[in-house]
Amino acid sequence: MTEKHILIVEDERPLREMVAFGLQRAGYRVTEAGDCGAARANIADHLPDLLLLDWMLPDMSGLEFARALRRDDNTRELPIVMLTARVAEDDKIMGLQGGADDYVTKPFSARELVARIEAVLRRTGSHEEKLMAGAITMNTVSHRITINGVEIVLGPTEYRLLKFFLMHPERVFSRSQVLDRIWSGVYVEERTVDVHIRRLRRVLEEHGCAHYVETVRGAGYRFSSHATGNSR
Ligand code: CA
Repeated sequence: MTEKHILIVEDERPLREMVAFGLQRAGYRVTEAGDCGAARANIADHLPDLLLLDWMLPDMSGLEFARALRRDDNTRELPIVMLTARVAEDDKIMGLQGGADDYVTKPFSARELVARIEAVLRRTGSHEEKLMAGAITMNTVSHRITINGVEIVLGPTEYRLLKFFLMHPERVFSRSQVLDRIWSGVYVEERTVDVHIRRLRRVLEEHGCAHYVETVRGAGYRFSSHATGNSR
């Protein structure tokens, strides 16, 4: 596999360099820009596979820049992950409507950033059929799931749960958020989520992966193939 090229647009140099270092270590080729003007020149020169775009930039907001890129035929499909220090829910939604594929709130860990980038690249990849995390591989066309190469069988709800988690790693979801995504339009109680999470974990446990589904005390659930299992 050829290495993916990521362009980082961030004016805070220490942060930009730290992120570049983390991404290079994860196997990405990285170029850097300090503002939207430099990013534009960089993109015109060579289209990256993904744009990591800070919200607050000196010449133009990252949000405006993302919108401009979406209006341009050459960059319409360019995956964009926004970096934001803002945490208000409205801003997050605005960022996504503005054309970002995902966002990461500062401060973030290199591990979280890499997981998000991988997920966005998988989602936006040319009709990618495989979702992968750690030992788990899911083929979303055949619905076959393997763990360390051994096929496993899940009920339909657990399948949807696992698919949802594989598409959104390293992020905490409350029970009600999981409900909305998995049972949209159907009334079920929040503890139903726990029941299906338990069933999913039981199957994963047989293959040593139950710890991927983490319980985050007072918050909900997080899927992480890097989890240690200590927080369960
Ligand atoms: Ca900034």
